[in-house]
Amino acid sequence: MAYDDGNVFAKILRGEIPCARVAENGHALAFNDINPQAPVHVLVIPKGRYVSSDDFYTTAPAGEIAAFSALVAQVARDAGIDATGYRLIANHGAEGGQEVPHFHMHVMGGRPLGPMLSRKTGP
Ligand code: AMP
Repeated sequence: MAYDDGNVFAKILRGEIPCARVAENGHALAFNDINPQAPVHVLVIPKGRYVSSDDFYTTAPAGEIAAFSALVAQVARDAGIDATGYRLIANHGAEGGQEVPHFHMHVMGGRPLGPMLSRKTGP
């Protein structure tokens, strides 16, 4: 699947639409999900043009993967949910329920999250 430069996270990275920025490093950006499913619901995205988790983890340079992973951990620690627990979700493709075709990791926590596959309507 070719990368679509018109996707909403590409627009955020280009500064064309705003985001609620949480943290950033040289290769990744973290911002609050616009439709949170938990008290903490942050999206971490690579700054590079990667469609999905498969694309990212099979083609990104090791340094970009390391920086991305470090930001995921930092976001959870900064939110204070490393002690209480949290969930990481990366939806890939149609059956994975991926809506935005730019790889992203959901970092979710702040309450007991319940069964692994349920989706609520809010925090
Ligand atoms: P996924 O279903 O894994 O592709 O998740 C896409 C996520 O992006 C959803 O949780 C949306 O709420 C979130 N989202 C979509 N547009 C925005 C936006 N402009 N700012 C922040 N989060 C967004």
